Amino acid sequence: MNFFERLFNNPANTDHLAQCPRCLGKGYVDMDDIKRLKNELKWRPGKCAYCNGKGKVEPALITKVAADEAYLTVDESKRERDLFMEGDPAAVRRGELYKENVDRWIHQIKEMYFEECMSVEEIVAAILQGRPGVGDKEVKELLVYVQKVIDSATKN
Ligand SMILES: [Zn+2]
Repeated sequence: MNFFERLFNNPANTDHLAQCPRCLGKGYVDMDDIKRLKNELKWRPGKCAYCNGKGKVEPALITKVAADEAYLTVDESKRERDLFMEGDPAAVRRGELYKENVDRWIHQIKEMYFEECMSVEEIVAAILQGRPGVGDKEVKELLVYVQKVIDSATKN
């Protein structure tokens, strides 16, 4: 290892980094983090997309991107994450569209349940209409998700 490699690999160089505000330094997001950041309907547990699993972030990032930013999930690619974090206009726009879509789905599910008096199973069937080839696992996840949306609405 030459001098520069040693310098750049020096752990002391990470001293200025701040603890990740999303996962609190664990590198992954669990149900407690999701509840704390009120993203129960938008996130699933997994590797932390805010710090990319490192547990630490540049302090400047915390003022730039909110820790509870819903768009940044494990489902986005690393490249999309980096673009979004850098404030790339197209990535920011994709993030806005994504959030609008999620909010619209949540709204529709509530409407079907509370106004159209549909059951959870009927709502799932309505969502899946015109989307062939959805596997049993996804259908089960969707049932759980729809129930979660309804539960969150009845709690409020
Ligand atoms: Zn993190």
